Amino acid sequence: MRIIACLFALLSLGACGGPQRIYITHPASHDGESVTLAIGDGFDLAARAKILRAINEWNFALNGVVRFEIMANIHDASWSFIPSSAPAPNVPADLDDAYPLAFTMRIGSGGLVAVFTERIEHRDLGIVVMHELGHVLGLDHQPRGLMALRNWPGEAPCIDLSTVTALASLRGIRLELFNWCEVK
Ligand SMILES: [Zn+2]
Repeated sequence: MRIIACLFALLSLGACGGPQRIYITHPASHDGESVTLAIGDGFDLAARAKILRAINEWNFALNGVVRFEIMANIHDASWSFIPSSAPAPNVPADLDDAYPLAFTMRIGSGGLVAVFTERIEHRDLGIVVMHELGHVLGLDHQPRGLMALRNWPGEAPCIDLSTVTALASLRGIRLELFNWCEVK
């Protein structure tokens, strides 16, 4: 029964007495920097909804210091999300973790986030997108948390203290300008 309960917890985080994500909040900033994003054609409705939720969660954590703004037209945005064919779609199961799910490429003051949609499968696209948005903000990989190179099952990644600590350090600003999540 324990195995069944844990499997269920992986599918539905927060259920089954699993981890709860709680955001630690602070007074918001106003008139912060705006970063424009567009979601390219080719994502289905469910994928678009997950991308939008990931952007909203980042906007909540960014707390007005930076604000992601969705543009209807890809030509009006500095950053674009595009669905893309994976370089190696048929990855052997034992090597699965070694191949990327998405790729963020900086071009000038903006760039491109390519999502390898056929590699997402059972994974949560929203978490993959939240990780890539960290790269859009200029973050490198961290040893743990959202910006870890690999997110392990059941970890319930969210915009955690290690992620906003790295962002505050990158921008030379106080950590308490951001909100961050804690997994209880
Ligand atoms: Zn990464």
